[in-house]
Amino acid sequence: MPSRVVPDGRRTHPDVPILDGHNDTLLALETAALRGTPWSFAEGRDDGDLDLPRARAGHFAGGFFACFVPGDLEEPTPWADVLVVTDDGWEVPYAEAADPDQVRAVTSGLIGRLHGLEDEGSLRIARSAADVEASLADGTLAAILHLEGAEAIDPDLAALPDLYAAGVRSLGPVWSRPNAFAQGVPFRFPSSPDTGPGLTDAGRRLVRACNELGIMVDLAHMNERGFFDVAEISSAPLVATHTAAHALTPSARNITDAEIDAIGDSGGVVGVILNVSDLREDGRGDRPDMPLSRWVAHVDHIAGRIGVEHVALGSDFDGAAMPLDCPDAAAVPRLLDALREIGWDDEDLRAFAHGNWLRVLNATWKG
Ligand code: ZN
Repeated sequence: MPSRVVPDGRRTHPDVPILDGHNDTLLALETAALRGTPWSFAEGRDDGDLDLPRARAGHFAGGFFACFVPGDLEEPTPWADVLVVTDDGWEVPYAEAADPDQVRAVTSGLIGRLHGLEDEGSLRIARSAADVEASLADGTLAAILHLEGAEAIDPDLAALPDLYAAGVRSLGPVWSRPNAFAQGVPFRFPSSPDTGPGLTDAGRRLVRACNELGIMVDLAHMNERGFFDVAEISSAPLVATHTAAHALTPSARNITDAEIDAIGDSGGVVGVILNVSDLREDGRGDRPDMPLSRWVAHVDHIAGRIGVEHVALGSDFDGAAMPLDCPDAAAVPRLLDALREIGWDDEDLRAFAHGNWLRVLNATWKG
């Protein structure tokens, strides 16, 4: 097990709380309850990536809690059953559009779960940057309510104000499937992210409405044309909450250097994912024995192009295959240690850990 003591003897983590771009823990709570094996976020569990004890152990200060609704909530198809091995990699059949009524119903349950966690005292739902700052100061986990795919919103956007009132402060117009707003990228390696048309008219309306309300627009899972459509019309910093560098791992989910540069130019941030298939050179998702230096290489590539002030963590805890060297939220200080080993100083680490997310939220949210 890697030491938390860095080579020069200093410990990185106690005063560096870490905000994170993405987790699917609400869905993990929901599906476990549906299967009759519920677990307590406050008390933790034997497996899984994120719960309150793990967060405390890792100085994990919070982040974006996604509401994601899979096509089949009760019987999700195992990845291994649909993955097709190709000559030079693999692909998963492109997901069908989801039923908006079903997404709406499940989303309201997931939002209810997050409110329940706030009611029991496990976390604070962040509705303003001041709320996030309060969490960093008092150690209460900060939860930013995020919609991963906007199917719960009708193309006329009538539902958007109610979702804002319920605490939604971030949304990705699409997950990796088509919907009324845009087209997500398929899961495929190797593949360009240029996989289809960009934003629809409803998608453009959605981005403008998010700008007006002060909801962050997340470009993870968006195809390349959709990405640059958003770049053209959005008045907010561009953000991809959980992705990696396509130049190092050519997965369709990863962002190109041109996308990275656009995010830097806008003052935005890239949350670097821990999902091994988006990080490994060979794209193998079944090989978690990946050194953290590989994750560091992605962070370093992005920081090298656009600066340390535009890169952060975007783990995808409870939604992806984690590397053995950073399997859960308790282990995130190892990421900071790994960055210190390549020469990042305290100021860089604080920016990466929470300063960059805070800056983007301050520039994006109203109030
Ligand atoms: Zn995702």
